[in-house]
Amino acid sequence: MKNLTTVEVDECCKPQVRVSERRCPECGNRGKPVQDLTVSVFVKNPSIFLHPERLPPGAFSMCETKSCDVVYFNSHEGSAFRKNELRTKVWQKEDDPAVPACYCFNNSVNSIGREIERRGSTDVLARISAEVKAGNCRCEVTNPQGRCCLGNVTKAIRIAKEKLGNPLVVA
Ligand SMILES: [Zn+2]
Repeated sequence: MKNLTTVEVDECCKPQVRVSERRCPECGNRGKPVQDLTVSVFVKNPSIFLHPERLPPGAFSMCETKSCDVVYFNSHEGSAFRKNELRTKVWQKEDDPAVPACYCFNNSVNSIGREIERRGSTDVLARISAEVKAGNCRCEVTNPQGRCCLGNVTKAIRIAKEKLGNPLVVA
């Protein structure tokens, strides 16, 4: 695999993957770090986690390239999990407006679009922020990206508005 190098870290004898080298083995784009916990929750076969000695901490990344079939990859081992190896559809990878942008509270392009139709606007971002403040967010185990969804939701609002503004693409 190209771009694969490891560095030794003092506090641990296992090699750690440099962030700058998190390149997707399929599309070559840079991935974002994702916790082992998140990967283990979303892959159908998490047996790789039975061998932690082969898995340096922080080895997994997520590829967010929409057209790319790889969701998680492990720069250390060179292994990858593809869309069909996950239990859940991944927002970044799908056009389906029913796929959640916010997994904790199940907000999708469809649900946001219905809210805008009903009320003329949406306060979904404020609602999610309030839930985050209240400690009700569980992105690590509900969202395949394993972290806050607000960026996705902002994009979902834009897509919902575009769909409403153009009757030809309203589902
Ligand atoms: Zn990729």
